[in-house]
Parts: sequence; C-alpha cells; structure tokens
Amino acid sequence: IKITALEKVYRTEEVETVALNKLSFEVKHGEFVAVMGPSGCGKSTLLNILGLLDDPDAGSFLFNDIEVAHFNERKRAELRKHNIGFVFQSFNLIDELTVFENAELPLIYTGVKAAERKKRVEEVLEKVQIMHRRNHYPQQLSGGQQQRVAVARAVVNSPKLILADEPTGNLDSSNGNEVMQLLTELNEQGTTIIMVTHSEHDARYSHRIIRMLDGQTVTENIMI
Ligand code: ADP
Ligand code: ADP
Repeated sequence: IKITALEKVYRTEEVETVALNKLSFEVKHGEFVAVMGPSGCGKSTLLNILGLLDDPDAGSFLFNDIEVAHFNERKRAELRKHNIGFVFQSFNLIDELTVFENAELPLIYTGVKAAERKKRVEEVLEKVQIMHRRNHYPQQLSGGQQQRVAVARAVVNSPKLILADEPTGNLDSSNGNEVMQLLTELNEQGTTIIMVTHSEHDARYSHRIIRMLDGQTVTENIMI
C-alpha cells in the first residue's frame, strides 16, 4: 500500500473538517503496522479509505501497484471483497446467523460453491479454535469468542490485507491477548495487517507504529 498526499475533507453547511491532510506512508506486503493517535486525528477516515469503503478527495492510493483512489463504488466493492478482511471493535457479527453462517458470508458474496464453502469455513473455525461452537449464535458466546469468529470471517477469503479497528477494545486483557496472538499468526503466514489501536500494549505486537495527529503522520517508529 502506498498513499501519497491523501486528503479528505468533510463538509457540512457550517463547517469544513480536514480529516486527512496530505497524509503519506507506505506499508509493504507482509508488514504488521499499528496506527495510533488521539481521537479525531483521522484514523477511522483512513481505515475507510484503505478498506475501499470511501474515497479520498485528493492524493494517490496504490493498492498492489494499482491506483484505486478514484475507483467508483462498484470497482471498489469488487476489489474489497476479494482482497480485504475487516475486524472491528464491536465484532459486527450478525446475531440471527450462527457462528458457521457468519464466517461463511464473505464466501457467499464472492460466489464460492457450497461444498468448497463448508471446507474453508471449517478450516478457519479450527484455526481460531471455535469449531465446537459452530452452531451457536453470537449472543451465546463470550466477547473473546465473538472476536475469534469475526477474525475467522475476516480471513475466510484469504485476503492479502486485514484492517483491524481497535480489535481488542471490547475485550479483557486475556481475551485481547488471544486475539492479538491470532493476528500475529496470520501475519506470520503472510497477511499484511494494519491495525488502529489506542493500546501501546497491542501496538507492541506490530512491527511499526504510524503515529497520526490532525490528519498527518507525526513519526513512523521502527520497532525493534
Ligand atoms: P478518529 O478515528 O481518529 O477519531 P475520524 O477519522 O473519525 O478520527 O475523524 C477525523 C475528523 O473528521 C474529526 O474531526 C471528525 O469529527 C471528522 N469527521 C469524521 N467523520 C465525519 C463526517 N461524516 N462528517 C463530518 N465530519 C466528520
Ligand atoms: P465472559 O467471561 O467473556 O463474560 P461468559 O461468562 O459470557 O464469558 O461466558 C462463559 C462461557 O459460557 C463461554 O464459553 C460462553 O460461550 C458460554 N455462554 C455464555 N452465555 C451462553 C449462552 N446463552 N448459551 C451458551 N453458552 C453460553
């Protein structure tokens, strides 16, 4: 990922808010990067653009060497569903679907056949150690278990990139560490991870911290 001079301005009738102010950085294939900064500095805006959920007003965004900054919604959706997995603070599972069905969703969106879906969902549920709960509903699971299902859903399509927004924000420290371990394993298997976090503890699982302030990077610390 290479973003250069990325700009995003939110306009309402009274005010203009510059959310991203010529933001630039690069994330190499296989990196695990933490993005940190105070509330309002533009982290969610950045994740939305990196996740191809929103487009910037100006600047360049290279994704796998393709300029995607000005892709329309249809092309963004196509790229997104094959290449990017999302993990959220609030898990965002669908309460009416079982663990298995939640993890299966991205495969339905990308048109994978039922037999292949079953095989791949079982694989990822094993990986996050939640197979024994495959027929349970999210509300029957603890927070840590729900986040493991969300991670399974994020990786079931073997995305090259995982975007995580405060993935441990609703978890106690032991469940939080389990989820961070899981992200670390996925990263070691080759998945690039960009994680927004307020937790210096969680950031230590990453290779590098990008610190933001007022829509810009402050420093890019190389971790030891
Ligand atoms: P963070 O995730 O770091 O808290 P955000 O990306 O949510 O920051 O917000 C960056 C700035 O843009 C903030 O000043 C916020 O109030 C503003 N902002 C975010 N979304 C909108 C929106 N939809 N409309 C207007 N202003 C917004
Ligand atoms: P936590 O300590 O994270 O709050 P809980 O006390 O909610 O966890 O859950 C403890 C265990 O009981 C977990 O394994 C969870 O899956 C299980 N559990 C909780 N509620 C239900 C339920 N309604 N039906 C089935 N299992 C449940």
